Amino acid sequence: MTAQRPVAIVTGGSAGIGWEIGRRLAADGYLVVAADRVPGLTAGDDAAGILWRELDVTDHAGVDRVFGEIEAELGPIEVLVNNAGIQRHRGIEDLSWDEWAAVVDVNLHGVFSALQAAGKRMLERGEGRIVNISSISSRGSAGRAPYATTKAAVIGLTSTAGAEWASRGVRVNAVAPGYVDTGVFRQGVEAGTLSLDTILSRIPAKRLAEASEIAAAVSFLVSDQSRYMNGQTLYVDGGFMVDYGVPLAKKPE
Ligand code: NDP
Repeated sequence: MTAQRPVAIVTGGSAGIGWEIGRRLAADGYLVVAADRVPGLTAGDDAAGILWRELDVTDHAGVDRVFGEIEAELGPIEVLVNNAGIQRHRGIEDLSWDEWAAVVDVNLHGVFSALQAAGKRMLERGEGRIVNISSISSRGSAGRAPYATTKAAVIGLTSTAGAEWASRGVRVNAVAPGYVDTGVFRQGVEAGTLSLDTILSRIPAKRLAEASEIAAAVSFLVSDQSRYMNGQTLYVDGGFMVDYGVPLAKKPE
């Protein structure tokens, strides 16, 4: 069956930021597939218009197989959002190999597997958009070595794929969100390794991001409005990356 609406896959789309991205893309007219390990929010009433397909992005061959099945069932994948991500909070000296490898497996290998599986199908048709979700933590983040490292690597992969595929109709860009009150952030606050007050004092906009604000940037990057953007990373962070973190003592005269 060929879908009427263009197909957009959001990895990790059953919760948090991915869920909001899915809702935004559905509102934009896409047939959204939340590709996640569990159905999560896609199982609820609010899931209207968002399908769920089981996917573990760490299963390299499985990603290719599931993307092939989605195309056979629903039509060509026009958009991929590489959103699935996990983190582990621990100092480098205490980090176990398993913790390091688990984060690299999801946040980097998973992004590569999905980018390659979707990208090769898009290249055959000469059409497609991919958005990878990085993070402001790509700059470096004490206590989150594998997370920061993989999020920086995602920027490198984005610029490389963006350059490699720019002349072949496939655009690859990234969004680097600031702090959003969803999964990976909440886990850090609950574990006591992230302090909301400290974080807020470092954000020029003095508030967390809303997931819908991240989704809006993704919507822009998959739209024709960004058609001359290739390999870029868009920071949606309330000014975090453009301030080195020492708040003004008083308002300038
Ligand atoms: P959530 O934990 O709320 O959502 C992540 C989703 O990804 C979950 O549904 C999770 O499923 C799924 N997932 C995890 N591992 C896999 C896997 N192997 N295969 C498929 N799906 C998987 O996180 P957020 O919404 O907070 O984060 C979404 C993205 O945004 C991540 O890449 C994160 O790094 C990034 N980000 C988040 C920020 C924040 O402040 N929240 C800031 C900057 C970037 P399950 O529940 O089963 O693990």
